[in-house]
Amino acid sequence: MSSVSIKLPEPDDLDFAFYKACAENGALAIQECRACGQRTHPARYYCPRCASDQFEFKPVSGRATVHSYTVSHFSVEPAWRDRVPYVTLVAELAEGPRVLARTDTIKPGDISIGMPVRLELETLAPEFSFVVATTAKAES
Ligand SMILES: [Zn+2]
Repeated sequence: MSSVSIKLPEPDDLDFAFYKACAENGALAIQECRACGQRTHPARYYCPRCASDQFEFKPVSGRATVHSYTVSHFSVEPAWRDRVPYVTLVAELAEGPRVLARTDTIKPGDISIGMPVRLELETLAPEFSFVVATTAKAES
């Protein structure tokens, strides 16, 4: 682990609401429409299915599969330089929405599209968490 601190984003509006809900739940909490139940990420002011503006953030299972990924071999950020090469991925939750995640445990040669992963939070501040992916066993 680097001794250089990571520069944290300062989310606002709906992004802030998302991170705050995650921190309060101690788990990944995705926006859910109160009118029709649609799960949406990133959060929106109006439901993409029914246009309702009534929503809440509810914890999800953390079960997901790899939708897409990239491998970084270089970083200009001092805090990330000693981590290269590292994987950043888009994971599709069992509940539907896709979420950006980082990982320390899934190495570039070990990741594949469709691979099951588990998503958890690494909370760095009350208003910001990383979503972190680890390998998961396929469920039958
Ligand atoms: Zn809706």
